[in-house]
Amino acid sequence: MRPFTYARPESAAAAVRAFMAAGAGAHYIAGGTSLYDLMKLDIEKPQHLIDVTTIRGLDAIETNGERLRFEALAPMSAVATDKVVLRDYPILAEALWKAASQQLRNMATVGGNLLQRTRCLYFRNGAGGTSVGNTYPCNKREPGSGCAAIGGLDRGQAVLGQSSSCTAVSPGDWPVALVALDAYVEVLGAGGSRAIPIAELYRLPGSTPNLEFTLQPGEMITAIVVPKTKAGRHSTYHKIRDRESYAFALASAAVALDMDGDTVTRARIGLGGVATKPWRATAAEALLAGKPLTPATALAAGHAAFADAKAGQHNGFKIELGARTVADALTIAAARNRS
Ligand code: SF4
Repeated sequence: MRPFTYARPESAAAAVRAFMAAGAGAHYIAGGTSLYDLMKLDIEKPQHLIDVTTIRGLDAIETNGERLRFEALAPMSAVATDKVVLRDYPILAEALWKAASQQLRNMATVGGNLLQRTRCLYFRNGAGGTSVGNTYPCNKREPGSGCAAIGGLDRGQAVLGQSSSCTAVSPGDWPVALVALDAYVEVLGAGGSRAIPIAELYRLPGSTPNLEFTLQPGEMITAIVVPKTKAGRHSTYHKIRDRESYAFALASAAVALDMDGDTVTRARIGLGGVATKPWRATAAEALLAGKPLTPATALAAGHAAFADAKAGQHNGFKIELGARTVADALTIAAARNRS
């Protein structure tokens, strides 16, 4: 175990001050369900841990106004079981239910979950000192070292948004549902507070896959805001994985529909398990606008979502699987629309 300092600030502002005072090597920690794993693997090496779980009043769930607002420290389990979320936004509840086990949902926070790091095998198993013992090149873990996944075991890798430096899939379920609903995060940093659309919180890997988020040093997520929409009531998060529970997505689709009878007036579609960041399937959304939702149009939309996909050696199956996942999700959401 590497030594680190540990602070327990009592307010978000104090947490930011502690982070900025600590300088390089500072890291916020909330539920710790991901960070501790990465510390044990010697991938994350924080020198200063700033535990934000001691901040009071940063876990509220607000659903009565014109928007949903989830403060960052709200446990995933609390949001997943909120009555308004369950009734009016199944897309959100299902994304949280399918993201983790109950124990993890109780510990993990809705803010921290947005900053989960990739499950790329080479990123996680390549660090020196692990049980694997080998050190695979990984540009995300060690910039400039190369990418073992390209030309390697790439069954789980991305088919959208990848670069010649990194093909790692963004692992989250929750952010995929949020990106479909045009949610944004409120963040607090040394320069004050600002809002960042969820879609802009994540970077494409490009030539710098080590830079995953657009947060500035010291900025912490304080809340997630979801604009209210009637489409939320006619929505779903559909996740396909190797086993039915406690596994990351091979492909997932977050869908919310506005419909007039059988006709889609507006579709919102997010993709998970297939892209390097939570992905908005805008071409599929455009294809569906003004059309009746039939098995044929649903599958056409699924194929439109993957029109720009590029497969590696072993992950080509994700393109058809992803298209059919979108089609199934559209069918589920449309059926809810009629109920
Ligand atoms: Fe590392 Fe990305 Fe390559 Fe995986 S895909 S080994 S995370 S650079």
